[in-house]
Amino acid sequence: MPETTPFRRVLVKLSGEALAAPDGYWLHPPTLAGLAEDIARAIEAGIEVALVVGGGNMIRGARISQAGFIDRATGDSLGMMATVMNSLALETALNAAGVPARTMSAVSMPTICETYARQPALHHLDKGQVVVLAGGTGNPFFTTDTAAVLRAAELRCDAVLKATQVDGVYSADPKTHPDATRYDRITHDEAISRDLKIMDTAAFALARESRLSIVVGSVHPPSSITAILTGQAPSTLVVP
Ligand code: UDP
Repeated sequence: MPETTPFRRVLVKLSGEALAAPDGYWLHPPTLAGLAEDIARAIEAGIEVALVVGGGNMIRGARISQAGFIDRATGDSLGMMATVMNSLALETALNAAGVPARTMSAVSMPTICETYARQPALHHLDKGQVVVLAGGTGNPFFTTDTAAVLRAAELRCDAVLKATQVDGVYSADPKTHPDATRYDRITHDEAISRDLKIMDTAAFALARESRLSIVVGSVHPPSSITAILTGQAPSTLVVP
């Protein structure tokens, strides 16, 4: 079946854990290669892709600061650096799969990668390159979900695809409520009134205010980024 999509440009948000090995080791080359192949197929289907990857496979600032030795802002700096490491690994996998990709970091690291700026990022996307947006928002006390929504709004993306452990947004946690049902489509306001957790509060508020659609789908096979974006795998579309 030919793959068609309503999306011209999408920001794909992957959690750091999506890059990890099944045994939890923080980077798994076959998984990286699979993600890169998937992005290559999405591009073949006519979708321009920007990527934001988290750092939770290595460090989350809130967690590491709980022990009391490292303060939250420093822990978050470590977390942002973890996202740069993940982004560089993903960039490498994309280039190996024949997809031109560039990492741009919100935390300036000029000897390692480009520093994020909106106009050059738009230019790369317009040329058909994948931009891997590293370093989150560049500020502590935020998450990469917020970075994903922020960059999607800045870079004129049609939607954020939040690739998660489940294939959409359910009426209740499907692990503990076997009768929970998946929403195909729901509005931001309905998600709030039904108390559905889609992203952290800051990220979701920005998506709602920016009237940005969010696609929630599973990162696990047989779902894939391309299948979700071309309507061949289940997902939930959250719309204004
Ligand atoms: N982080 C931050 N500011 C940002 C984005 C991320 O300080 O704008 C830090 C924060 O410590 C966070 C960590 O980087 O816990 C990794 O990001 P996140 O938790 O969003 O990763 P994910 O859960 O998606 O793997």
